[in-house]
Amino acid sequence: MKLSIKIHILLITLLLLSIGLKAQKLDIRIFTDTKLNEISFIPSFGRYFVEIDNKKQSIKKSDIVRIKTQADKVSLYINDSLIGNYKELKFSSEGLMSFFLLRTKDTNLIKDRRYDDNLIVKVKNKDLFLINNIETESYIAGVVQAETWGATTNVDFFKLQAICVRNYLFKNLNKHKAEGFHLCDGVHCQAYKGRANQVEVIQGAYNSKGEIIVDSLGNIIETVFHSNSGGQTVNSEDVWGKPFSHLVGKIDSFSVGTKAYQWEKYIKIRDWKRYFREKGVNIKNDSIEKELLNFSQKDGRKKEMLGVPLVQIRKDFGLRSTFFDCQEWGSEVRLNGRGYGHGVGLSQEGAINMCNQGYEYWQVIEHYYSGARIKRLDDDIIINTSK
Ligand SMILES: [Zn+2]
Repeated sequence: MKLSIKIHILLITLLLLSIGLKAQKLDIRIFTDTKLNEISFIPSFGRYFVEIDNKKQSIKKSDIVRIKTQADKVSLYINDSLIGNYKELKFSSEGLMSFFLLRTKDTNLIKDRRYDDNLIVKVKNKDLFLINNIETESYIAGVVQAETWGATTNVDFFKLQAICVRNYLFKNLNKHKAEGFHLCDGVHCQAYKGRANQVEVIQGAYNSKGEIIVDSLGNIIETVFHSNSGGQTVNSEDVWGKPFSHLVGKIDSFSVGTKAYQWEKYIKIRDWKRYFREKGVNIKNDSIEKELLNFSQKDGRKKEMLGVPLVQIRKDFGLRSTFFDCQEWGSEVRLNGRGYGHGVGLSQEGAINMCNQGYEYWQVIEHYYSGARIKRLDDDIIINTSK
């Protein structure tokens, strides 16, 4: 499909979906892990204003807007003229769709990023403190795009991925309440690198608007996911020590044979042995040495190898997953692995496979989250900011 046709479809979808729906805005801290004392604001689409002392000043497309720190205030420059120093600046937009671009001084180090809706700028600890005030579904689409790396064009997959992101959002709305925003854009919350531009991702977020996943008691569940289960998902307690009724290990044939299904790694036998010796394993014992070089999970996932938790081995050797078998290979041990990631909850590749095979997105959710179901949030749900 031609890009222009896709964009038309997207705009029509957004229009239809926006009619009659109340816009709910979130405050997301952006550039959380980057220290910045200067940034340029460039309007990309829609009409933007900067709110100064309760007055709105229009920003022209050709204006060069720079924001700098000045002690504990924000200095605003338009076309190199200092407009003033302020405690807070808000760049707001009008219209159905608007987005802007943020450019740092070093574009080689930090690429330009585009964001939907509004921007609030303050100074905290002498650095710029940036909040993207954004409509909920646009934020969800942004997170989905950051976490799915253009993996597919299947809208159903993005729909269920959007629901997972929405679940996290509603479970963690108060995570940064004391700091005056909802979520940050780092891995601490959910990775968010700006607006989504893949049409199917945006459609997935808007087509699932208001849908969340709950357990049999109606509680919003933890919707954890990983890249590939290797053919069997893992119990939550085997990775994080805490059980959840919907995060139970099960056979997952949908992940078998997909892109990240298999991996292998070679480790010197002496390093392998030394590692287990340091973990307190008596490797001089014959049967233990045999196990060390012939460990197998062919009959299903295990939790430990010679008493050492597999999650620890995965971390220490930087393995793609805990689902591996061992084989002696000359002076090395060959690890034949399956899957990518912690293995708990939804397998992204398995989910894409299910969607491509024609399963409905709720069937995928039922497969990966035992006993879970989709519920529609009341459209009147109030998202409170702590200000
Ligand atoms: Zn956070």
